[in-house]
Amino acid sequence: MEKEQLTGHINDLVKDSPDNSVASDVALRPDLAGMPFFDEPLAGFAAADDPYFAELKKPGVIGEHFLLPRDWLREAKTVVSVFFPHTKQVKTANRKNKEWPADEWLHARIEGQAFIAGFCRHITAFLKDQGFDCIAPALDPRFSAKSPLTADTTQQDYYTSNWSERHAAHVCGLGTFGLSRGLITARGVSGRFASFITTACFEPTPRLYSGAQDYCTRCGACARRCPAKAISLEAGKNHPPCSQFLDRTTEKYRPRYGCGKCQTGVPCESGIPKR
Ligand code: SF4
Ligand code: SF4
Repeated sequence: MEKEQLTGHINDLVKDSPDNSVASDVALRPDLAGMPFFDEPLAGFAAADDPYFAELKKPGVIGEHFLLPRDWLREAKTVVSVFFPHTKQVKTANRKNKEWPADEWLHARIEGQAFIAGFCRHITAFLKDQGFDCIAPALDPRFSAKSPLTADTTQQDYYTSNWSERHAAHVCGLGTFGLSRGLITARGVSGRFASFITTACFEPTPRLYSGAQDYCTRCGACARRCPAKAISLEAGKNHPPCSQFLDRTTEKYRPRYGCGKCQTGVPCESGIPKR
């Protein structure tokens, strides 16, 4: 299969799917019915045996529990990562309130993620129809977001899983990490990621960076925006206070939750920041 056939199908799904927008029966406000969550996506590709994946198993990166592409799918040839940039409406709304998430952001976080899960199922079926095997690690029964290192939610080590969408995107040439631990892509940091591992063979995307944090200017804006004070120039992102803040948003907005202040109203929100 040609890469353009897959990327064209990915773009069409995001552009045309009614699920990439707020359904009127769940809209938090009448004016949000029909609001799209995501703009045109970015896709990146990496060889399944790219040695960079093995680097992620090292302590201090992700760790030994990280599963390599061929642990997920034995005959895998390619990892495909997709970035879904938030729409201007979602980002603009979340810039305003300094503490709590905007309604638009809550929809993008919950209903937007449900759209991405359906998107993953669709792409997996599409590639299988073309004669290739394919899995989406985040939907695989082996996926575990529970740390094997500690059961203590106050520990930084708790917040690790056996596959990472942002690390996969980094290996697939989509961008580099920010101080906030978001991945800064050519379309910014505000958005969500998905990935697939497939037996289809696609040419890798060149990584236009050499360091894992090349695009971050360390301007500190994300730290100033964080209502939980979970980010600092000295220590980067501290996961436990972020997680505790997200729990507070669950109490307030159940069944939704979210924050994303470190992704909006910052120089890297919608592109690679200028130095
Ligand atoms: S806001 Fe500034 S410091 Fe934070 S991730 Fe973006 S560029 Fe880096
Ligand atoms: S999601 Fe919110 S609480 Fe967590 S680091 Fe970003 S700004 Fe801070």
